[in-house]
Amino acid sequence: MSQMIPTIEVQNLCKQYGATKAIENISFSVMPGEVVGFLGPNGAGKSTTMRILCGLMAGTSGRVSICGVPVATRAHEAKRHIGYMPENNPLPRDMRVLEYLRYRARLKEVPGKIRNKRVDEVMDLCDINRKTRHKLIGSLSKGYRQRVGIADAILAEPELVIMDEPTIGLDPHQIRSIRALIDSLRGKMTLLFSSHILPEVEASCDRVIIINQGRIVAEGTTASLREIFGLHSTYTLSVKAPRSAFMLAVDAIDPQKIIQSESMDADGFLRFTIRTGLAESFGEAMSEAIRQHPEWCLRELSLKQPNLEDIFVAATARSWEQTLENSENLNKENDEAFSQLIHS
Ligand code: ATP
Repeated sequence: MSQMIPTIEVQNLCKQYGATKAIENISFSVMPGEVVGFLGPNGAGKSTTMRILCGLMAGTSGRVSICGVPVATRAHEAKRHIGYMPENNPLPRDMRVLEYLRYRARLKEVPGKIRNKRVDEVMDLCDINRKTRHKLIGSLSKGYRQRVGIADAILAEPELVIMDEPTIGLDPHQIRSIRALIDSLRGKMTLLFSSHILPEVEASCDRVIIINQGRIVAEGTTASLREIFGLHSTYTLSVKAPRSAFMLAVDAIDPQKIIQSESMDADGFLRFTIRTGLAESFGEAMSEAIRQHPEWCLRELSLKQPNLEDIFVAATARSWEQTLENSENLNKENDEAFSQLIHS
């Protein structure tokens, strides 16, 4: 059986800007068709990594291949596989949308015979309506300009589309429409994009890679990262049942659970919040246990799971604390230096 070639393969990549280590020995791969979120706090190294992947800048050391093509030695060939939308996409304000996309299609060597048809296709796909196609880019709203940027990135039907913060600065309606656009590309190409809007990433991505201070601190699906970081689910349960029999049932399902709160309302319903590591299976077993006791009455059984934001905070917390500590130490040193200065 032939082995599938990763769309992106990064091995031990490092990048230094003078004394600043922007990327420190990162390795990851993205397989064909995957939609991957590339996350991290400001200054974590996302844009630097993306620019190196796109062959716009060289790494200090390490290897990057796109669809099996090494970027360092065959950048031109590797770039043919990539559509890139940079952060704050600098588009020419004095060109009309149609004119710009036809110009970009020519640059990207989309064959002349199909060029205009392909430009029309991507404008349809990106929901750029007929009136807007003839407008100057400088007169468009930010949401529309982002659509033009995405249309540009997908013009030459690349295997891989890389987008650096495609939803930055957009209002909630525009964010939704860009998300719908990203979702519509699923299955057509491999996608890697960065964003700080974590619910959007959670909804669109198969997997996330979290980078902090130039290092990968987490990688996987939301469900797998919940487990890795030991983040627990919380159930709210409201049931009318004899307390001791009910507690026996709960204990049998998860002896490790923690009852976070317990009360009884005016109708005699017991109300619990229960922390468990079992997630969905706890709810399923609980429903089954209640079904086996027709005399018990269930009013509420709801699950709150840690989301990507909780995971992001857990994954980046340690180095975040370290950053705070460093800046506190720096402040202390500055205070000491200042007090020495005024006392000298
Ligand atoms: P953001 O979310 O703010 O865009 P990022 O995760 O994309 O951040 P990078 O822009 O890749 O992060 O920056 C990573 C580190 O490299 C930061 O410390 C940044 O200050 C530094 N850096 C980035 N570009 C340069 C440059 N051209 N010269 C010097 N240092 C740079």
